[in-house]
Amino acid sequence: MKRKGASTRSAPRPDGAVRTCVACRGEAVRDDLIRLVQHPDDGSVVVDLRATLPGRGAWVHPTRACVEKIEAQPSLLSRAFKGQVRAPGLAAAVRDAVERALLDGLSLAAAGGGLVGGHDAIVQALAGGEIELLVLASDAADRTIRDLLRAAPEGMPAVPVTLDREALGSRVGSAPRAALGVRPTGSTVHLRRQLRRWVGLG
Ligand SMILES: [Zn+2]
Repeated sequence: MKRKGASTRSAPRPDGAVRTCVACRGEAVRDDLIRLVQHPDDGSVVVDLRATLPGRGAWVHPTRACVEKIEAQPSLLSRAFKGQVRAPGLAAAVRDAVERALLDGLSLAAAGGGLVGGHDAIVQALAGGEIELLVLASDAADRTIRDLLRAAPEGMPAVPVTLDREALGSRVGSAPRAALGVRPTGSTVHLRRQLRRWVGLG
């Protein structure tokens, strides 16, 4: 295994490799960070959520604090990038990228049978310990959320997304859904990663 910084190649490195967040200088495995690259033409910062774009990259925690710090101080990227760095709208761009990936993740999870929909089915799956977290529609009723959380183990995350009930159901190929239970299975790995990022970005 190559030592950190020993390679300048842009080929994807093994998962689990540790990177340093350019905003807070904290270290984390690369899956827990988001990669930024510099646009070759205009020097602007591009969000490389899949960490596959060529060129020099910089890594940042997917948290509001770290992303907003870079937007306010783009010079934090100048060690990783060449020349002048501009990062207007970076925080919004990161949110947009994560949101798009989250929507893809919902479709993938639905196709792989990793989601549970419908109040009774969710409550039953919660009782059986089959659900790791809940996704909530933007217009889910407070009472619905309370009912589900009452059936859930203490501290279960319930993550609101920007889709309303109609859009959330349509996204997963079903009737309108106020909530979805997410099973800890292979088909929901991508979704769960994006939900963690979404929560961090506030
Ligand atoms: Zn950070």
